[in-house]
Amino acid sequence: MKGKSVGAIILLLSLGFGCAQLSLSQKVIPLNEVKAVPDHTPVWNYEGWVIARGTMHNHTTYSDGCRTPEDLVQLARNQGIAVLGISDHREGEMCLGKNFCYPVGGVDSKKVGYKKYYEHISALAQESESPIILFGIETAPYIWIERRFGTVLGSGANNHFTSWGIYDPEIYERMPARKIMEWKVEKNPGVEPYEKWVNYIRDNGGLVFIAHADIADDSWRLILHHKAVAPNFMIPQLLRLTGVALVPDAMQESAKPGGWWDQGNIQYLAGFREEPLWGWGESDYHCDPTPLNYGNTYFYLKEFSRDEVFRTIKSGRMIAVSGEPMMETYVSEFSIGDGKPASEKIMLGQRLKLSSAPVIRFALSKEIPVQEIRLIRNGKIIYKTNKTNFEYRDEDALKDKMQSFYRVDVVGPEPRSRIFTNPIFVAWK
Ligand SMILES: [Zn+2]
Ligand SMILES: [Zn+2]
Repeated sequence: MKGKSVGAIILLLSLGFGCAQLSLSQKVIPLNEVKAVPDHTPVWNYEGWVIARGTMHNHTTYSDGCRTPEDLVQLARNQGIAVLGISDHREGEMCLGKNFCYPVGGVDSKKVGYKKYYEHISALAQESESPIILFGIETAPYIWIERRFGTVLGSGANNHFTSWGIYDPEIYERMPARKIMEWKVEKNPGVEPYEKWVNYIRDNGGLVFIAHADIADDSWRLILHHKAVAPNFMIPQLLRLTGVALVPDAMQESAKPGGWWDQGNIQYLAGFREEPLWGWGESDYHCDPTPLNYGNTYFYLKEFSRDEVFRTIKSGRMIAVSGEPMMETYVSEFSIGDGKPASEKIMLGQRLKLSSAPVIRFALSKEIPVQEIRLIRNGKIIYKTNKTNFEYRDEDALKDKMQSFYRVDVVGPEPRSRIFTNPIFVAWK
């Protein structure tokens, strides 16, 4: 019994949140000064649109972030963030069996609890006109011990999801996410416990995005070897996911042409998914010096309100942006017309029915150096240019009359600089 407790303590101590950006040498820069001019433009008004710079999935002192929620909001104002998504870790304590629990510092603990977290953030959200504050939770729904040869292999600790739009703390209290880990070896459960959790959040009106999807975990924490493949393999199996955080941590595999994200939207065309799979940008901010602009989402809003941000997320009217060279430009045109250029300029996320060859138009709001701009249809690059605007008439699509989705991928001058549009879907009359 004694040996078991010691093992249990070591195991629990070695559990971490497993977030990609977690820095051990955290340094908080005091925010005494409110910047008169923010680091970046928070909002552009363009042709009736309010284009708002947002960043999703950020942490506060409610989990392993180094700033209080108030401080984070001020940082957002200084850095030019108009929509701030806060999603602290759920894991407040881990338990071995029913009686042995150990705090790991997140929201779901006796000391904090969803109610306190929710009340605090929502009061802050009510006070703050800008940034608009969205409330969420980051969850690793299922962690287990897979193998034990002298050391143990902890799995699932980096399978993270952020959920949004749930305002009843009781829904979170009841969610089917594992808090109790047995001190025993278990089989890899596959995707099933994750599917159950995603479906629960969606059934309760929430939205779910997979976080840092390309990040595999191969780290040692005391005696516990965390080893897991990147969670992106779950994307085609989780049919009710709302979307994927494309920047900064899913550009290589999930967001490449024909990658996991495109496969998700091919599933949508084939009828396996009821909704498209959207992409956005997250910063996963924990502490400086990583800015809140590490991964941005630009929301194309009809009015500057929280409800409108949610409508925009649900309809895919957003782009994912990362890298300093891209920070002061936005997509000023992405449209598809029926045999001729469309009259609308911004058609992100729309579903169209055409009878002639699609005419795709794309433009950035200003000239920036780009390596390549790619037009992608159903996961394949069909056109490339290094100009910041183009028009392309897709005769092949008309020939095959295949249901299609088009998206644009802007590859900037630096490895991290990128813009991903959400797709426009085309069917035939
Ligand atoms: Zn994470
Ligand atoms: Zn995180």
